[in-house]
Amino acid sequence: MTLAQTDRLAPTHFRHSAFWQNAHLYFDRVFQTMSLDQTWRSVLTTPKRVLSVSCPIRRDDGTIQVFTGYRAQHNGARGPFKGGIRYDVSVTQDECMALAMLQTWKNALVDLPFGGAKGGIVCDPKKLSMTEKERLTRRYTSEIMPIIGPNMDIPAPDLGTDSQIMAWVLDTYSMMVGHQELGVVTGKPVACGGSVGREDATGRGVMNILRKFLATQNKQLSDVRVAVQGFGNVGYHSARLLDDRGATVVAISERASAIYDESGIDVEAAGAFYKENGTLKGFAGADEIANDELLACDCDVLIPAAMENTIDESIAPHIKAHTVVEGANGPTTPKADEILRDNGVTVLPDILANAGGVTVSYFEWVQGLDNYFWNAKRVQDELQRVMESAFDQVNAKADESDCDYRTAAYTIAISRVAEACRLKGLFP
Ligand code: NAD
Repeated sequence: MTLAQTDRLAPTHFRHSAFWQNAHLYFDRVFQTMSLDQTWRSVLTTPKRVLSVSCPIRRDDGTIQVFTGYRAQHNGARGPFKGGIRYDVSVTQDECMALAMLQTWKNALVDLPFGGAKGGIVCDPKKLSMTEKERLTRRYTSEIMPIIGPNMDIPAPDLGTDSQIMAWVLDTYSMMVGHQELGVVTGKPVACGGSVGREDATGRGVMNILRKFLATQNKQLSDVRVAVQGFGNVGYHSARLLDDRGATVVAISERASAIYDESGIDVEAAGAFYKENGTLKGFAGADEIANDELLACDCDVLIPAAMENTIDESIAPHIKAHTVVEGANGPTTPKADEILRDNGVTVLPDILANAGGVTVSYFEWVQGLDNYFWNAKRVQDELQRVMESAFDQVNAKADESDCDYRTAAYTIAISRVAEACRLKGLFP
């Protein structure tokens, strides 16, 4: 057997993706500076459980297609697992494991009583009809049913999924246990026991964190020009809420196109156009630019809100923004992170900046378990309190240790998870 053949046959866990390696690099960079018992390193970095499932469904044309799905649970020392479900062609087991680890740190940083999880199905949701998506979601839910539940693992929306999909997860699980189980999934429609304010929670958290950071620079949202990469749930609501509060949104992109207007884009109009056409191509209110021009465009604040690894070492030296707010999970590679730091660009890291979504998911879970529902003001006020408190802690840690925000955020999060692991000890 040749080397190439053996390499092809190697189990996937021997060939971790760059994203998995990046997640570990970020962890190691901080862990080695902490005075923690080094023997805990592998406990903290190894996923507790990873389930791979096959989901055969009947397509609308009568043919049968088998889709692969995953659910990775990283560390449950602080509570039940919690994390999104992603529908995308790029989903892999590795990616789910890396995102589950990030989710563990995020949940700990905003002090939620959850461990981290992530799941997904390898599919292109745009090529599935609604009925196909429903069958796939129901089959996937039934396949991961043994490891999810209101006290075990609570999924939520992520890339390519939305409140409708969460409603099917809720219904499938509830049908199988024989009663309505609101706490099994968050990001549900309000009509099915969801929380008001969940839809725009991640964008609202991005806005809260940027506003708090700018205040430390004696600046306001109305002082900044913002570019947003990705115009889905996170990108659209971040842009809309920043625009509402006086920021000038100069650039927006989605997978296939990007637009720029130095005097400011009408975000509501762009959002309506995108919803109707599924692209920003042809939007009359701004100039079209090449997709990759957005990251290097003339702006003060850059919000990557699309996918992981979009800011790498090739683009980082060209970024003109003074602040990067990570709306997406893992958008900046470790090498790019170093370049940005050397160039004086402040990065507000994903585990802080985009934690608004899981925070309101936590509120939704609490409301579902209590069967007592909050109004929008309470949700928004509580979210702001959690986000601002997390920012203050990270800011204080960064000052105290003279380090960047990512290092400060990871230090706080890893300490909390390590402390829970240490106190609980090992079973048996
Ligand atoms: P979404 O599916 O609603 O939107 C994704 C958007 O990104 C789409 O507009 C798509 O066209 C665009 N996009 C994809 N690739 C792109 C590229 N290369 N360049 C420009 N645009 C591109 O997804 P979402 O829920 O908004 O999630 C976006 C990111 O935010 C993901 O990393 C996700 O893990 C993270 N996130 C989401 C939530 C949430 O509550 N939905 C919470 C925390 C973090």
